[in-house]
Amino acid sequence: MGISRRDLFKVAGLGAVLGAVHIPSTACAVKTPSRALPPSKGNRVVIVGGGWAGMTAAKHLKKELGDKVDVVLIEKRKIFMSCPISNVWLGGLVEMDFLMHDFHTPASKYGYTFINATVTDIDRDKRRVYTTEGYVDYDYLILAPGIRYNYDAWFKGDKQMARYCATHFPSAFIPGAEHVALKRKVDNFEEGTFVLVVPPPPHRCPPAPYERAAMIAYVFKQNEVKGKLIVLDPKEDIKPKGPGFRRAYEELYLGLVEYVPNAKIKEVDPVNKVIKTTAGDFKFDDANLNPPHQAGDLAWKAGLVNPKTGWCDVDQLTLRSKLDPRVFVAGDASSVKGFPKSGDMAHNHTKNMVVKALVALLKGKDPYEAVKAPTNTCYSMVNGDPKEAIVINVIYGLDKKKKAPVKKKKNVVNDRSSQLARSTFEWAKALYRDMFS
Ligand SMILES: Cc1cc2nc3c(=O)[nH]c(=O)nc-3n(C[C@H](O)[C@H](O)[C@H](O)COP(=O)(O)OP(=O)(O)OC[C@H]3O[C@@H](n4cnc5c(N)ncnc54)[C@H](O)[C@@H]3O)c2cc1C
Repeated sequence: MGISRRDLFKVAGLGAVLGAVHIPSTACAVKTPSRALPPSKGNRVVIVGGGWAGMTAAKHLKKELGDKVDVVLIEKRKIFMSCPISNVWLGGLVEMDFLMHDFHTPASKYGYTFINATVTDIDRDKRRVYTTEGYVDYDYLILAPGIRYNYDAWFKGDKQMARYCATHFPSAFIPGAEHVALKRKVDNFEEGTFVLVVPPPPHRCPPAPYERAAMIAYVFKQNEVKGKLIVLDPKEDIKPKGPGFRRAYEELYLGLVEYVPNAKIKEVDPVNKVIKTTAGDFKFDDANLNPPHQAGDLAWKAGLVNPKTGWCDVDQLTLRSKLDPRVFVAGDASSVKGFPKSGDMAHNHTKNMVVKALVALLKGKDPYEAVKAPTNTCYSMVNGDPKEAIVINVIYGLDKKKKAPVKKKKNVVNDRSSQLARSTFEWAKALYRDMFS
């Protein structure tokens, strides 16, 4: 299943959808910022970013507090596209429809305000968010901007080279048109060496690069590609679900996938298509080049990122910013020890920790009493015919004395199965339902 005309129409037609900045009609005129909404009545929570964390926060705050809270969700995209299951789509095993959701239905159903605009700045002293549609004041802010790519780690501030790399070898770790570009590359690849660079941890979705490798190999196998996929991993081994991925590469894609551990990037030359690593130098014909990740741009603009780590320091039980008690940082941009940066975790910690803590605060209660322990489940599709997947599930507890989550139980199923492939789709449907309907 390649990219269907319907898929392309959907992506192109929604245009700006996928990653582009919304430009207001008066973009050329200098204008005094105006209000996008009337002033707050003292109960306004503004959520920036309608991804996995932001969508969860908007619905569940309204579900818990109803009219007692004025929830405003600001998102720059015109449509939601899910990164989870995007590798499965890359493998041609599901239509893009499955990944797409609209912002309007849940806003209308649960009674929150949806503003389709780009947030350009945040003034934390004034408790004000500036957007391309005017400014909005908040009493509390939930910042959920996801990640940004740190090309500077590779190109030392050479923006032109970073742009060249992003254009010719898009990462597709942020939902959008990059995914379509990557699928075209994979579908059209006929022979030679295709390289996939695994970003260094912590990065968005620890198993995603390995699942992507399996799905690319599956397409290459179907298309009888004369060549191979080289996976360059800075780590010493595949983690998580290492045995499951390794077995898939060896049993299903022997000769098609070469996994190279300890391949820390020394130099990336996208023009001459060479990557120098601590495990040797690699020439490639085409590639999926994934630079290191950091908290999304907006978190930097708001001055909430720890420059030493690239992520936002937060209270480990409530995810309240350590730098501003009026701000919670939800989703991948936050840093909680032991939490992977996954959609499942973004959904789980937002629902059980961020929302519970904020509801308690708004009711004048103790937020630490209110928070609940999250879980994290992550399926990875490794085969397309038959569809087969592996899974990891971690159950957390809360150490309220140490004010930190603790891992209580970990289950990993490395034996791929069709049952787990079916569960993959069921998991996604359940999560989409909990955010969008
Ligand atoms: C290929 C791939 C596969 C994955 N598979 C899985 C999986 O199987 N299971 C799983 O649990 N996780 C998976 N993940 C991880 C998952 O996608 C992320 O962990 C999750 O999206 C994090 O949610 P978030 O809300 O923090 O960020 P996002 O979902 O990225 O949302 C951030 C939102 O903020 C918006 N935004 C940013 N800046 C602005 C601004 N200035 N103004 C307005 N809006 C703004 C963005 O447009 C975006 O909608 C996968 C990721 C990838 C890349």
